[in-house]
Amino acid sequence: MRIESIEAFQPDTPDCPKDWRLTLGQIFIRITLDNGISGIGIGGGGLAGIGVIDACLRDIVLSSDFNTPAELHATMCRETMFFGRKGLVVMVLSGIDLAIWDAYAKMHNLPVCKLLNPEVDLSTPIPMYKTVWTTEAAVEAFESGWEAVKLHVEGMGQNPNSALIRTAVETTRSRLGDGPPIMIDAFGRWTVEESLEVAHALKDFGIDWLEEPVMPNETAAYMELNSSSPIPIAAGEHEYLIDGFQDAVDQGLFDVFQPDVNWCGGLTSLLEIYELAKANNIRIVPHRGAEPYALHAIAACENEPLAESERDWFSGRFGFPESKDGHITVRNKPGFGVEVEWPDG
Ligand SMILES: [Mg+2]
Repeated sequence: MRIESIEAFQPDTPDCPKDWRLTLGQIFIRITLDNGISGIGIGGGGLAGIGVIDACLRDIVLSSDFNTPAELHATMCRETMFFGRKGLVVMVLSGIDLAIWDAYAKMHNLPVCKLLNPEVDLSTPIPMYKTVWTTEAAVEAFESGWEAVKLHVEGMGQNPNSALIRTAVETTRSRLGDGPPIMIDAFGRWTVEESLEVAHALKDFGIDWLEEPVMPNETAAYMELNSSSPIPIAAGEHEYLIDGFQDAVDQGLFDVFQPDVNWCGGLTSLLEIYELAKANNIRIVPHRGAEPYALHAIAACENEPLAESERDWFSGRFGFPESKDGHITVRNKPGFGVEVEWPDG
């Protein structure tokens, strides 16, 4: 296979959040193969990401011959090794990889999940967890059919206030009863000491995981936390390529992997991360799992799937499926089923 063209744009619509996911925003990438089939991916990096395509990735992909998405992925990683490996370049490369998988599945006339695993039953809805900021929202989510909630607590008090967070979690647990999973997200705001103080304050409330308690570059902090926290530590939405997750395994950084398929290296990397996680008995719950790019992988790779709730500004747009009663169903369309109106046709 060869790629004949690659184009990218950053959507800018009135109801998108100002940053359209993180400061640099997300970009749609479209590739067209020499057989005329096109594929669409979403990557990160915003306008800077489009600059990376213009500066080097277009030349790399247009001059490559490949038989599988993984072959071109390897080429892109090798050619960007000296300035890539983590962050912006990998976020862009992710969108290209997803566009190629989209075209590759369309060539086989299959949804991506069926290409990965013919046993997938497309009629079975995938349960989701709802990301919330209050006890009331958690209770409302359960009453509406959601099977788990993730409570963001980083805004509850300063530095943080473990007593305040404990009260919120205790109230949530008492209103939900035993059983429904509750997860906690700190968005990288704390120190090791603060994280441990909160983890010990919450240890009796059946918490599935404590997510990103410290910033993603704080390796020593994760090592210490993961070995001493009474609650499993989750992270990985800001980690890149199989190498980053292999380091996490080798150093014992976290017990729940949350790769973001639109940033971590695309579907090729996510499939490698699934293999690594399974070989090491690590739970994997992809970041923004209800968006179609991750959802296909979850449908194909998980025995007990759980998808993170979709963002409002995606739901029902661009061919993204809408959730119903806390469940979401993969669209039965070739590729990822994503559709977007391209600027200038
Ligand atoms: Mg998070």
